Amino acid sequence: MTERLLIEALDKLASNGNCVDLWLRDDDCIEPTEALDAFLGAAARQKIPATLAVIPAHTGEALAKRLESEPGVLVTVHGWSHENHAPASVKKRELGLDRPVEVVEGNLRAGLEKLTRLHEVRLFPMLVPPWNRIDATLIERLPGLGFNALSTFGPEKPAAVTMLNTHVDVIDWHGTRGGRDPELLFAETAALCLPGGVIGVLTHHLVHDDVVADFLDRLFSLTAGHPGCRWRSAADILASPAFPADQEA
Ligand SMILES: [Zn+2]
Repeated sequence: MTERLLIEALDKLASNGNCVDLWLRDDDCIEPTEALDAFLGAAARQKIPATLAVIPAHTGEALAKRLESEPGVLVTVHGWSHENHAPASVKKRELGLDRPVEVVEGNLRAGLEKLTRLHEVRLFPMLVPPWNRIDATLIERLPGLGFNALSTFGPEKPAAVTMLNTHVDVIDWHGTRGGRDPELLFAETAALCLPGGVIGVLTHHLVHDDVVADFLDRLFSLTAGHPGCRWRSAADILASPAFPADQEA
C-alpha cells in the first residue's frame, strides 16, 4: 500500500521538526444533499476544515441553513453559473474573454455579493474559477472586485492576487469519472510533502464513489493528528505571515 509512502514522508518531516500544510477544497456545491452530508461528515469526524466552492447562480438559503451547524466550513465563489462560454474547439471555461470583460466582471461581482449575503462570516473572498480556468486580464481585476485570493489547480504562479491552489485531484475526469487509484493519490501527496509547503486536495462531493470515500477516510485518518502535517482552512493559510513564500521566488 502506497499510503506507506505518505506516512514515511510525513514521519520524515516530523523527525526534522518540519511540517506541511494541507487544505481541502470541494467544488460545485449548490444545495444540501446526502452526498454533501457524507463528505462533510467524513471531514468533521477528523476535525478537518473544508472549503466549499459554491456556484452562486444556482444556490440559495437551503445551503446557508445547512452550513449553520458546520463551524469548520468556509464558502468561496465558484464563478457565477458554471456555464461554458468557450467555442467548441476550446477547453471549457466560464471566465475567459469569450464575453465582454465588463459582463464577466459583473458576474463575479454578483457572485461575491450573493454568497456574502447568504453566508456572511463563512464567506471567504477567494475565487475558484469553474474548470480551474481564468483569463489573465480578469486575474488582474480580482482585487478591485473584492477578491483577496484565487484558487485553481497545479503549481501556483506569480499573480496580481494571492494564489492558493489545489494539487491533488481525487477524480479521474478523463477516464472513469470516478475515483482515481488511491495508490497514485497517496504517492502524489507524498511527493508534495516538502517542509513548509502547502498541499491542496480537490474533491467534488456530487460525483464521489466508494473509491473516493474510502481514499478520503484513509487520508483523513492517517493525517489528522500526525505531527508532520496540519489541516488548515484556506483563510488560516493565507493569514500566515510566511505565506506565500514560494510565490515570491
Ligand atoms: Zn466546478
